[in-house]
Amino acid sequence: MSSSPPLPSTSQPWVTADAFLEGRHRSFGERSTRFATETLRPLAHPGSDEEARNQARRILTLLGDGGWLDPIEVLDLRSVCLLRETLGREWPLADAVCALQALGTTPILLRGGKRLTEAWARPALRGRAMAGFAMTEEDAGSDVAAIATRARKVGDEYVLDGEKTFISNAGIADFYTVFASTDPDAGRKGLTCLVVPADAPGFEYLGPLRLSEPHPLGRIAFRECRIPQENRVGGEGEGLKVGLATLDRLRPSVAAAACGMAARALDEALGHASRRRQFGRALSDFQLVQDKLARMATELEAARLLTYRAAWLHDGGRERITLEASQAKAYATEAAQRVVDQAVQVLGGRGVLEDSPVDRLYRAVRALRIYEGTTEIQHLIIARHLLEGQPPGNSGGGSEPRDQVGKRRPDQVKSEPPDQEERS
Ligand SMILES: Cc1cc2nc3c(=O)[nH]c(=O)nc-3n(C[C@H](O)[C@H](O)[C@H](O)COP(=O)(O)OP(=O)(O)OC[C@H]3O[C@@H](n4cnc5c(N)ncnc54)[C@H](O)[C@@H]3O)c2cc1C
Repeated sequence: MSSSPPLPSTSQPWVTADAFLEGRHRSFGERSTRFATETLRPLAHPGSDEEARNQARRILTLLGDGGWLDPIEVLDLRSVCLLRETLGREWPLADAVCALQALGTTPILLRGGKRLTEAWARPALRGRAMAGFAMTEEDAGSDVAAIATRARKVGDEYVLDGEKTFISNAGIADFYTVFASTDPDAGRKGLTCLVVPADAPGFEYLGPLRLSEPHPLGRIAFRECRIPQENRVGGEGEGLKVGLATLDRLRPSVAAAACGMAARALDEALGHASRRRQFGRALSDFQLVQDKLARMATELEAARLLTYRAAWLHDGGRERITLEASQAKAYATEAAQRVVDQAVQVLGGRGVLEDSPVDRLYRAVRALRIYEGTTEIQHLIIARHLLEGQPPGNSGGGSEPRDQVGKRRPDQVKSEPPDQEERS
């Protein structure tokens, strides 16, 4: 018998998203919640980058031993979303660990074949190897076509040269799924995805980048780094397809993590508003506070519906969920930011103390609007879908949005969806 307190209704996504889930999802959600509240919530909050790195490795073992990462292997996106919502609510660092195991292994699961799956993805999803996903560079953030890391074919090896920045798990990952150019003249069509073990000759960890909410992040480099050609994921020149197909699938899970953080913030605000008395009454008696709580709850539920709809479409066999994934990610991460901010307001001064759960959420949720494609990039994707097939405008101002989102130039943004015919 579990001694956990009953779960608040705000923390039961399977109730809101019932139409998109099956019975097994509900029991998975309940079990993962028990695991997170009993095993993760009692952990000490990491106070430094080093502590976060150590704890991330420990959390990986816990997630792997418990079989919690199994849904990633079978691309059961609804379960992945439920897990990330639970982890986002209970322990954002655990959510980051889960997110990176998914990001680092999904390219391999999609296009790496049996050998690479056995060698890298499976151990990672058993918690035996930590994964990294290395796309971003100093001059290639949203604009992935600007990737300058070079992979030259020499005999039966690739030789990599270049640097990557903003890489989660940099310095603690056992391997990285790396995007490099095998044909610089071909731009985005010359990118190739490769698995680079952290102990490959010529691989270098350059050091950490420190976030206000500890999360292992850093810079890595390849200096004549040699890897066997068998470590290529998909074909030469297919790197962008592989990368975007991965992001397409995993963006709803970022949305789910955002929902988890919003749910926790709402719980904290509800609890505080009910307990705290001012002017002789509970805060929750004041209609201005009720207004905040109502808006928070409604935004959370709307975010969940977009999130689990996207995951349901994926699991139901829809080949592409680019539009729905972007809508879920953009809306849920922006909504979660608002919800967490309102929770801080409801807690007043206590909300900005550094050990307050809502202050930690405030710091943790911010990055979700940036990584795996910023909100602006998601909006470009959504607008492009809307404008596809529309006749070109002929009024004076009509050409601008078409130039921005309707037509695509070769130098355009990383997270924009590839042309339909390019998609794997
Ligand atoms: C916590 C964290 C973890 C991360 N982990 C990883 C990781 O593991 N692996 C990895 O490869 N990367 C990772 N990243 C990097 C992340 O993916 C990039 O930060 C993100 O893609 C944005 O790139 P940028 O920071 O260079 O911003 P830029 O691309 O320089 O964008 C700056 C601003 O300009 C806007 N902008 C850019 N282009 C356009 C446009 N065409 N139209 C309108 N607005 C535009 C953006 O939306 C943003 O607001 C991580 C980032 C963070 C914060």
